[in-house]
Amino acid sequence: MSSPPRRPPDARGPRAAPTLHPRNRHTGRYDFARLTRACAALKPFLLRTPAGDASIDFGDAAAVRALNRALLAADYGIAHWDLPDGYLCPPIPGRADYLHGLADLLAETEGGEVPRGPAIRVLDVGVGASCIYPLLGHADYGWRFVGTEVDAPALQAAGAIVQANGLGEAIVLRRQPARERTFAGVVLAGERFDLTICNPPFHASAAEAAAGSRRKWRNLDRAPPRGGARPALNFGGRATELWCPGGELAFVGRMIEESAGFRTQVRWFSSLVAKSEHRAALHRRLRQAGAHDVREVPMAQGSKQSRFIAWTFLDATQQRAWRSR
Ligand code: SAH
Repeated sequence: MSSPPRRPPDARGPRAAPTLHPRNRHTGRYDFARLTRACAALKPFLLRTPAGDASIDFGDAAAVRALNRALLAADYGIAHWDLPDGYLCPPIPGRADYLHGLADLLAETEGGEVPRGPAIRVLDVGVGASCIYPLLGHADYGWRFVGTEVDAPALQAAGAIVQANGLGEAIVLRRQPARERTFAGVVLAGERFDLTICNPPFHASAAEAAAGSRRKWRNLDRAPPRGGARPALNFGGRATELWCPGGELAFVGRMIEESAGFRTQVRWFSSLVAKSEHRAALHRRLRQAGAHDVREVPMAQGSKQSRFIAWTFLDATQQRAWRSR
């Protein structure tokens, strides 16, 4: 079998081929016939690329939402998934890649085998309305998740997904009352997590987030949709999802500082870092915090290069001992 192109096609035709993780379920082209069989709601959004391939318009939020619904049904056994209007619609291949990269990290101290099943517990800081990481991580590896969120409507939407799919044992949601906190207030005394994950709000202000959304529209070669109070923001996520005081650097910086206080309760802390220019400062913060081991794992996120950083305060012996406890 010839190796398939690694990036799903979009309405603008083929692009360079960034590499997804080999265990990612989306390394080939999307099979739209299979996806529409799994979810008929995708059908009205199908179109043909100039090359004659089936695709959807990736600039149409409703089309992308239907694609996600189909992917979750066809590949992850999630029968019920929806998103309230205006919330961040996650590109599933990229979200899955972060989890596969973390699975490899856990495998290092497990004789090269990815540990699967409910004994592995993951904390998702900022689970979002989509609940995307817990859904993917539970389907792919059987891990259990605690998802935290500051935004009440997002938490409610995530809760509805968990309930509709009968995943209440596997996915627990907690409200974080303080925006500037990541672990305090949601991690219980004595509670332990194999991983913490986070896709942080990365803009430093609402205005910056709006400019980012406008840029996205320009890259999609189209005008933002008309109507609605803040159409440009509405497509790519609500303001609270996209920005926090100080942006990504401050958010992840605070997380690093807080993580030192939870050093014995977590095996690997991690966060996505979207902006390359933040890497040096974050590595400096990690050294200052006394992290024992720090990793940076590059990832392809659509046409952009992204990465996650992961750090632990445990040495290899402590990590091996962790599982036998
Ligand atoms: N995980 C989802 C959402 C990421 S957007 C995805 O990858 O698509 C970032 C999310 O973090 C938003 O939903 C925002 O409301 C939430 N958030 C912001 N500050 C937070 C905090 N201190 N603790 C928990 N969640 C937070």
